[in-house]
Amino acid sequence: MSTQDDVLEYLRYFRELGVESIDANIDAIRSPKTTVPSPIRPGEMPLTIPSSDLKPLSFAIASVEKPKPGSRLKDIPSLASLSPQRTSKTEKIETAPLMQKEQLTDKPQEPQTIKAASETLEDIRAEIGPDCSRCKLSTLGRKQVVNSTGNPNADLMFVGEAPGADEDEQGEPFVGRAGQLLTKIIESIGIERKDVFIGNINRCRPPKNRAPEPDETAACKPFLLREISVVRPKVIVVLGATAAQNLLETNVPIGKLRGRFHEYFGVKVMPTFHPAYLLRDPHKKREVWEDMKIVRDYLNSVAKGE
Ligand code: SF4
Repeated sequence: MSTQDDVLEYLRYFRELGVESIDANIDAIRSPKTTVPSPIRPGEMPLTIPSSDLKPLSFAIASVEKPKPGSRLKDIPSLASLSPQRTSKTEKIETAPLMQKEQLTDKPQEPQTIKAASETLEDIRAEIGPDCSRCKLSTLGRKQVVNSTGNPNADLMFVGEAPGADEDEQGEPFVGRAGQLLTKIIESIGIERKDVFIGNINRCRPPKNRAPEPDETAACKPFLLREISVVRPKVIVVLGATAAQNLLETNVPIGKLRGRFHEYFGVKVMPTFHPAYLLRDPHKKREVWEDMKIVRDYLNSVAKGE
């Protein structure tokens, strides 16, 4: 793909994310590092594109090591029973008390990875059931349980917080306006939505879209962790502060978590802003794009065996 094609990809991305016009000089962008002057409307983002970012957007899915036939769930440690631990390669996360206690030890931590599960996504869904009442969200006005969806062999997984009104109505995660923006974000890195796996930490809509409470999350999150064990994605993009802090068990603000990978049992986790937040504050789209480029480049490098 030529440099010009790369630039057109960028421009297409910004357009899809709602930027109505960009006064860009393509000849100038060909230089090693160029700042494209304003105006960029809606106008908030100076567009600086280092030449190192102008990489091909081609994307290939690597083959995934999948559960071996015959392995038994009871033979493997349950991911849901484990907590994130730092390994020699794990980035330091400012964390909840569990992690702080761990950081006091000088002993190197054994790397933990997600073990293949012998159960299927259908098994998990059947266990949850259509009328799950494991937490009080079942009594607070939800219309239905909204299960995860997507490619069970996905290399890329997205995790949100909980369903909203549209999702509660349709029974699928990320189908409202925020979901449509998520689709564009996925497509901006050359992947189709049908090729990723998408879920939420909680499967029932909290009243007035409040954040799920700790007891509600504790009841529902183990199902998501079991799904991660089945899908075994290469990267999990976790959307929004609530979901990111919950998955990584940390209190660190999303603004400090995003922009780099965190390790979660051998899976790269990229926290980024929730699409619903981007609808309220389009300035943050640029950061999401930066995060997604990191994800894209990592998946491309895995596909090439680097
Ligand atoms: S949020 Fe999860 S645990 Fe709670 S009722 Fe819904 S499906 Fe069950």
